[in-house]
Amino acid sequence: MIKITANNPDRKSWIEVNEESDFPIQNLPFGIFSTAKKGKRVGVALGDSVIDVYQLAKEGYLDEGIDVEAYNRTFLNDFMAYGKEMTRKVRNRIADIFDAENGELRDISADVAKIVHEKVECTMHLPVQVGDYTDFYSSKEHATNVGTMFRDPDNALLPNWLHIPVGYHGRSSSIVVSGTSIHRPKGQQKPDEEKPPVFGPCKLLDFELEMAFVTHNGNAMGDQIPVDQSDNHIFGMCLFNDWSARDIQKWEYVPLGPFLAKSFASSISPWIVTLDALEPFRCDGPPQNPEPLPYLKQSGKNNFDIELEVGITPPGSEETIVTNSNFKYMYWSMAQQLAHHSVNGCNIRCGDMMASGTISGPDRASYGSMLEISWKGTNPIEMKDGSQRKFIQDGDTVTMRGCSRVNGVKIGFGEVKTEVLPAK
Ligand code: MN
Repeated sequence: MIKITANNPDRKSWIEVNEESDFPIQNLPFGIFSTAKKGKRVGVALGDSVIDVYQLAKEGYLDEGIDVEAYNRTFLNDFMAYGKEMTRKVRNRIADIFDAENGELRDISADVAKIVHEKVECTMHLPVQVGDYTDFYSSKEHATNVGTMFRDPDNALLPNWLHIPVGYHGRSSSIVVSGTSIHRPKGQQKPDEEKPPVFGPCKLLDFELEMAFVTHNGNAMGDQIPVDQSDNHIFGMCLFNDWSARDIQKWEYVPLGPFLAKSFASSISPWIVTLDALEPFRCDGPPQNPEPLPYLKQSGKNNFDIELEVGITPPGSEETIVTNSNFKYMYWSMAQQLAHHSVNGCNIRCGDMMASGTISGPDRASYGSMLEISWKGTNPIEMKDGSQRKFIQDGDTVTMRGCSRVNGVKIGFGEVKTEVLPAK
């Protein structure tokens, strides 16, 4: 495998990048954008600019062996299908082209005008055509909180939890990009234990603070992805808001798990930050005790230090940050999740999306859902405008952000921002 050269912290770009930008030249995340004159295509974010990668390839700046037309697509899948080594080469090359020391594009203003757009001219789209979406449940703090609330504080974690990266198959058709409003879902609820169920708009609408990874090609059916090779099958990550209808969930989830309480919508950020860009932010995960079975056993640093926050903006009001968490709290790593997912011979395909599960930290200020922050609605949180929230109300906008920082380099994810409209 070739080396990652794009991450050099000393590198500067000839494109001006604000110090607090999520997208310095060390990041270079991939997405799908369009402009008034250009249809959907592959782009890369750099500061407040978007690089038209299709145009860059057409003008002859890329020669990594990827078909130029693979960038002229409405999703990243055809690009991701080239695999880790090829996509790494392209990111390395883009870092070189936009390096302050390199004049090959910088000095040809006619090409720059065709290739570099201001972010404000660009519309971002769903970056990946998601084949299968899987949601894990890998934060010990979250699983413990939920188990405490709904089952038994003394046995909050079910017996399988410390042995298996627990997950379920979600719904990919309703994954939408940041900026897409969603409607409050309707469904069956059973607010009164003694009475029959009722039907109507969900009353306990919640966000789940998660991150997701997307895959290159995986394994043939019947084969498995070994845990020490999992990272080679992961292209990158995005922010993931796994919308949840708690009242619908509570009534429907036994015995087969979440269904309509989750399948109505999940929202993602538009830029896929490559796993390569996140290499400097690797850190240790929580100690795993009992020791995982051999197929899940890992060495080295397999978690990532990514600061996360969630804000709620009531209609016509200012935002209140309701939680600050971190991806490093995950008990099971992405590599373990992928190894587990494929250990039975299930074939992973390019463009599959796997979400972490709600990422909760150790205390209320770091919980990843309103269910936990308001403790089932018993402990509302104060908004800056004086109102209170137990769950999400119509007209509220929920925004998630994330970034990693080390050695003066900030690698950000942008945001996933969603307004909640009334039930249809
Ligand atoms: Mn979830």
